[in-house]
Amino acid sequence: AKKAAPNAILAPNFKFEDMGIGGLDTEFGAIFRRAFASRVFPPGLVDKLGIQHVKGILLHGPPGTGKTLMARQIGKMLNAREPKIVNGPEVLNKYVGASEENIRKLFADAEAEYKAKADESGLHIIIFDELDAICKQRGSTNSGTGVGDSVVNQLLSKMDGVDQLNNILIIGMTNRLDMIDEALLRPGRLEVHMEISLPDEHGRYQILTIHTAKMKSNGVMDSDVDLEELAALTKNFSGAEICGLVKSATSFAFNRHVKVGTIAGISDDVENLRINRNDFMNALDEVQPAFGVSEEELQ
Ligand code: ATP
Repeated sequence: AKKAAPNAILAPNFKFEDMGIGGLDTEFGAIFRRAFASRVFPPGLVDKLGIQHVKGILLHGPPGTGKTLMARQIGKMLNAREPKIVNGPEVLNKYVGASEENIRKLFADAEAEYKAKADESGLHIIIFDELDAICKQRGSTNSGTGVGDSVVNQLLSKMDGVDQLNNILIIGMTNRLDMIDEALLRPGRLEVHMEISLPDEHGRYQILTIHTAKMKSNGVMDSDVDLEELAALTKNFSGAEICGLVKSATSFAFNRHVKVGTIAGISDDVENLRINRNDFMNALDEVQPAFGVSEEELQ
């Protein structure tokens, strides 16, 4: 029987709370159970069960919701090597044929590294960001040059080849699930699908807490800033947009200490810089969520 690959080692003392991901604990738990638990079991046990590890997962949902963050943290948790991030549009580079070569090389590198260290546990994570860019459904009329088709075919054949190695994990990411070639979503390929949606109020509270943690602990955030209030006021914001909101609020605080005159300068009291509630209110006027509030929600 085929021997299971060396198992991944769970990084010691790894806690979800320390990962800096707000609001996605349920999703993370489900991904872990479905896609990674088998990798941290002793290999003997996996052999006994006669199962194969999951080779690929697909994270889908709106932009800026933490898909990349999640993929990176999964890698850290499994003590994987620094993930290789492949950007869909970049793979489709201008030289026809070069993109297939890029994918071939990507897998060849991971395989070579694995063979060189076959006794060690070592998981290689390859992240395909904006996977939809290379996955215009094959044969669709608008597939342009057809480069996408051959890249997808290359990807499919490489993913099927991963079987014997079992130490390569592919994480695909997209905002457009409908654009992903179905062949890629089958068992043995990107088989675990998880939607990462916009955070709810509690999630937004957690994300705000994460992104203001430093200013809070360093005493540069006024006590009038109420994160629960902000969580309620940021409906439809993605994690990335909440991060942008915090930056915008900081810029309003900076502005109180900038002197623009004949000579632009910084005021002497800059050490007293504090971010307050009003800065966040100004930021809320400035930073809008990309996914607008729907008609029903306005009523
Ligand atoms: P895209 O689809 O545009 O690639 P994405 O879903 O991969 O987006 P990320 O790149 O993970 O989004 O998010 C961008 C940044 O936004 C993160 O580096 C982080 O600072 C912040 N962010 C997004 N979601 C979260 C979250 N759930 N918790 C904490 N921070 C978040």
